Amino acid sequence: MSTTADAIRSADAHSAHNYHPLPLVVASAEGAWMTDVEGRRYLDMLAGYSALNFGHGNRRLIDAARAQLERVTLTSRAFHHDRFAEFCTELAALCGKEMVLPMNTGAEAVETAVKTARKWGYEVKGVPDGHAKIVVAADNFHGRTTTIVSFSTDHDARDHFGPYTPGFEIVPYGDLTALAHAVTENTVAVLLEPIQGEAGVLVPPAGYLRGVRELTRERNVLFMADEIQSGLGRTGRTFACEHEDVVPDVYILGKALGGGVVPVSAVVADRDVLGVFRPGQHGSTFGGNPLACAVALEVIAMLRTGEFQGRATELGEHLHRELNLLVGGGAVTAVRGRGLWAGVDIDPSRGTGREISEKLMELGVLVKDTHGSTIRIAPPLVISKEDLDWGLDQLRSVLGA
Ligand SMILES: *Cc1c(COP(=O)(O)O)cnc(C)c1O
Repeated sequence: MSTTADAIRSADAHSAHNYHPLPLVVASAEGAWMTDVEGRRYLDMLAGYSALNFGHGNRRLIDAARAQLERVTLTSRAFHHDRFAEFCTELAALCGKEMVLPMNTGAEAVETAVKTARKWGYEVKGVPDGHAKIVVAADNFHGRTTTIVSFSTDHDARDHFGPYTPGFEIVPYGDLTALAHAVTENTVAVLLEPIQGEAGVLVPPAGYLRGVRELTRERNVLFMADEIQSGLGRTGRTFACEHEDVVPDVYILGKALGGGVVPVSAVVADRDVLGVFRPGQHGSTFGGNPLACAVALEVIAMLRTGEFQGRATELGEHLHRELNLLVGGGAVTAVRGRGLWAGVDIDPSRGTGREISEKLMELGVLVKDTHGSTIRIAPPLVISKEDLDWGLDQLRSVLGA
């Protein structure tokens, strides 16, 4: 029996089956490449859903983490520590905002944004207590907590996890008219992904984000952009909202903020929004810990150079040019995305997204399927053009294109 089969059988026996991973067992990784327990190498074209934008084992990030590991790793927020102010100042500056509320996972940051919007609604906007509404989009993905799945439209994510948290209104993504109708005087926020990742890398119609910005400003409603997957370089800009020159009121960040090393998330906004919190009203033991701050500070410094956004733009144009050549040839029905990020709809005659992902894995390329017939491509932004081309060759080969 192979080491791989043993490891998978053992994982299946002792872990909850809330995931359906591809059948490989990773032992190490560097840059855009992973090596399994039997020494086989794979090109990582998923990058932990953008948590690994800077690649595996990035030297700068590992060095920053290691240096901090030797000094202090956790204080809790009961005490100040000497990386905290620097982290908040730098992240706020990167976002062009005044304040940061650090958490750990993406779902926690979304929860924090929901609480921020409600509190702002009652204390600043003047919505009657208990009546705040938040408008969200159909097919969203914002995480897995009880409140967040309450406004999911995905049956797997939602079913049998009720009773659900009230106070959310769901409208079709990309539809400004529907959004305008859903916003009432009790609406405190519109919460959206600027590009819907889990839904299949759905880019909204041109002008949508700008329309959301104008509508929310006119109606005194917060525009909260979940940039957990779309932000921090992936689309060729620091934030996907920049593609429409839009600045939301609230940025929700996670994934790449932790550099693929530790979970780091944050809500970033101006003082008139995040200033609503007083001691004891929200928090997290690990949120803003010294190790997280040290790694995130290095991530922010790397984003400051524009190098990674530039790579995503350049390699992304190449990726989309190559993928678009496949459309209409019988294997691929549509390609969407921005920067180094693509959703590829496979013609069902060539197999399901899962089957394509498994065949690609056998050829040494790792991607992830979503919604039956779509695969997601999002390699680390450090991938070389040669490796990207090699990955695309394997995709063409699997699709018979
Ligand atoms: C991954 C993701 C989340 C949830 O982040 P976790 O760290 O898994 O809790 C929320 N929103 C978006 C857009 C995501 O991609």
